[in-house]
Amino acid sequence: MLNKKSVNIRITIPKLLPLIIAGLILVFTCGEALAGRCSSCGKIIDDSSVFCMYCGVKVSEKSVSLFDIKKARRGGELINAAARGDLRGIKSLVDSGVDMETRDFKGDTALAKAAGVPLGKSGAIAVDFSQKTGREGIYAVGDCCESYHLVSRRWVHVPLGDIANKQGRVAGANIGGKAMIFPGIVGAQSFKVFGLEVAAAGIDEREAAAAGYHPVSAAIWGNAIAPSMPGSKKVGIRLVADRASGRLLGAQAVGETGAVSRVNALACALWAGLGIDEIGYLDLAYAPPFSPAWDPIHIAAQTLKSKM
Ligand SMILES: Cc1cc2nc3c(=O)[nH]c(=O)nc-3n(C[C@H](O)[C@H](O)[C@H](O)COP(=O)(O)OP(=O)(O)OC[C@H]3O[C@@H](n4cnc5c(N)ncnc54)[C@H](O)[C@@H]3O)c2cc1C
Repeated sequence: MLNKKSVNIRITIPKLLPLIIAGLILVFTCGEALAGRCSSCGKIIDDSSVFCMYCGVKVSEKSVSLFDIKKARRGGELINAAARGDLRGIKSLVDSGVDMETRDFKGDTALAKAAGVPLGKSGAIAVDFSQKTGREGIYAVGDCCESYHLVSRRWVHVPLGDIANKQGRVAGANIGGKAMIFPGIVGAQSFKVFGLEVAAAGIDEREAAAAGYHPVSAAIWGNAIAPSMPGSKKVGIRLVADRASGRLLGAQAVGETGAVSRVNALACALWAGLGIDEIGYLDLAYAPPFSPAWDPIHIAAQTLKSKM
């Protein structure tokens, strides 16, 4: 959507920023992530030269040809601006592409209040696991209500389409007389920006600390496909875990390919409450066009384990 091809298209996206921030607040500094690092001095390489502009060492084609660097730099700046909540910065960055208008949006709770439906701490409608509100005979689903977060163990407001669909089915079943529960969410979410997949699930360090965990995190760059395959592709993965229990708490990924599929696998791990030890040796499907034998998920988990 945020693509140069969309020049002259005017878009109003009422809640884009919170969605981006939710997914990205801890996804590295994506400018770094997108441009790559010099393998010698470790500094961020932000032009397409095969020589590092900081230490002069020749860096491999692979490490600098991850993406169209100009595009990547712009995407990285945009994401950084989003993480800072810098609306003006976002607007100026997309000036040459999409003419984007952002607008803060607050849920309209007038109807709920008028009907005597209690709201939760988040400001959205409070529900139980069967989508019942606190007012007899009234159910709520989707963007207007809260969901139970299986990792933070809190009722939160995560307005996403897949959640709305599931809650709708659960409410419908219960209203029709078939008992059903909506067990909760792990906050899995994804989007595409400048040709990059970006995805996240679980919680970040700040939320983890607030939920009583002892968070520790690690970020790695891995090969999205086997290095023996033509067309090197990198994927960045950041994991957050609880130092005390070893349990995975959150995952974020970014890359041209393979970011969403990896976060989906990690979302299952979050759902199942897996620990970093288990994730480091998960039996994941391997074939060179899709991943190295040691998937970046394994590498990220083992890197994080070494910090615990
Ligand atoms: C730009 C954008 C991109 C998104 N992309 C994604 C994505 O990639 N993945 C994802 O999971 N989610 C995405 N979402 C979020 C997703 O669309 C919502 O979470 C989902 O649609 C919520 O469903 P809902 O049924 O709760 O509300 P809605 O889909 O908003 O449906 C509410 C309906 O109620 C109607 N309505 C409102 N007030 C009244 C009234 N007084 N009387 C009668 N009708 C009324 C509205 O017209 C609307 O049709 C995106 C949202 C936006 C804005």
